[in-house]
Amino acid sequence: MSLRVAGLIVACGLMLAGNAVAQDAAALAELKQQAIQEIDKRQIFTQQVVDQIYSYSELGFQEVQTSRYVTGILEKNGFSVERGIAGIPTAWVGSYGSGKPVIAFITDIDCIPRASQKPGVAYHSPIIEGAPGHGEGHNSGMAVQVTAAMVLKKLMEEHHLMGTLKIFPGVAEELLGTKAFLVRAGYFKDVDIVLGAHVESEFSTAYSTGNGEWSGLVSVQYFFHGRAAHAAGAPWSGRSALDAVELMDVGWNFRRQHLRLQQRSHYVIMNGGDQPNVVPSEASVWYYFRELDYPHIKELYDLGNTMATAATMMTSTTADHHLVGSAWPPFFNKVIAETQQKNIEAVGMPAWSDADQQLAKALQKEIGEKVEGLKLKVEPLKEPVKDPKGGGSDDVGDIAWNVPMTYLIFLGTVGSMAWQWPRPSRTKDQPQAQRSRR
Ligand SMILES: [Zn+2]
Repeated sequence: MSLRVAGLIVACGLMLAGNAVAQDAAALAELKQQAIQEIDKRQIFTQQVVDQIYSYSELGFQEVQTSRYVTGILEKNGFSVERGIAGIPTAWVGSYGSGKPVIAFITDIDCIPRASQKPGVAYHSPIIEGAPGHGEGHNSGMAVQVTAAMVLKKLMEEHHLMGTLKIFPGVAEELLGTKAFLVRAGYFKDVDIVLGAHVESEFSTAYSTGNGEWSGLVSVQYFFHGRAAHAAGAPWSGRSALDAVELMDVGWNFRRQHLRLQQRSHYVIMNGGDQPNVVPSEASVWYYFRELDYPHIKELYDLGNTMATAATMMTSTTADHHLVGSAWPPFFNKVIAETQQKNIEAVGMPAWSDADQQLAKALQKEIGEKVEGLKLKVEPLKEPVKDPKGGGSDDVGDIAWNVPMTYLIFLGTVGSMAWQWPRPSRTKDQPQAQRSRR
């Protein structure tokens, strides 16, 4: 399936190439056909990339094997690679060609915690209990993008097409940790368009705020500092950093009722102390504050800081906080989306095998969704909704506000945007493997 999608991206790239060959409609149609054929020839290669990245399943900032593998493929195929860009060890950019237009491909490569899963099994069955896994499908995007870039390079060589191709990984996307750094370091300054790809349960594209289920966010870690003491022998001498964490969380949860419905906020306690007989001198909590736009995100962030300060006052502790990630709400380009939509319709849906549909239906049954199998039709171009509700985030928004871009949503899974294995009794102590958007 991803093969034909990659062909689509190639075709989109060619359409926007803007040189003499690409301006000729007949030549363009022929190039698109050639692109589709070249993509189909690489079917086994693309599937191998999907499987290989799945086998690595590396969390954000730890995508060492994945990056080594993909950059190796690119170098072997005539791309130059710059590694460790923007001070991020697992980030890189692969480049080919020269001059305008500059077309960039981007897709995420990190996985999520505790999502280890045997491939092709329609119930929760981890390869390694508790290990990370590609529960969101970030193993498939790079297979699509690398195939597309390789085919586009071949066509550019054969037809003497000018232009530059760049390919970037989305490092630590689940942590919203890197794309702002890439932008700030100037890696998108000379880029004309960015073509993102993400797996989903449909074949589609969108522009503007899309389906309205996007939020921006800041990711903030609060570190509280108290004073250790024997919890029974001299509790009056101690000041509990954990108390401060709990009071901050309680304060936030009371305040939640009085926040806009569009907000999403959630936290995990990163450090709650060591053992009960020692008053915790250190404790920390990690918040994601999500809203639809910058002013509202900033309001939540300020409120979080207020809660933290208030918690220190109640507990005679101190606190500092680190902003560890951020994402602007994405805003996608209409011209690219409309062009991409035509190519989506021209390429069409894949022909699913009986085995594909059997697995998809088994999964749908397992997760309690309507049992209808994989979709058979492409989606119409998604018009931006008038009343966005918010939802997940993606730090690709930081790119989208600087360079025209949109996402190609390619079909490679079933289920709604977020799902979990519903029967924890199947495994002894792992309650769920979540597949959720960031
Ligand atoms: Zn994702």
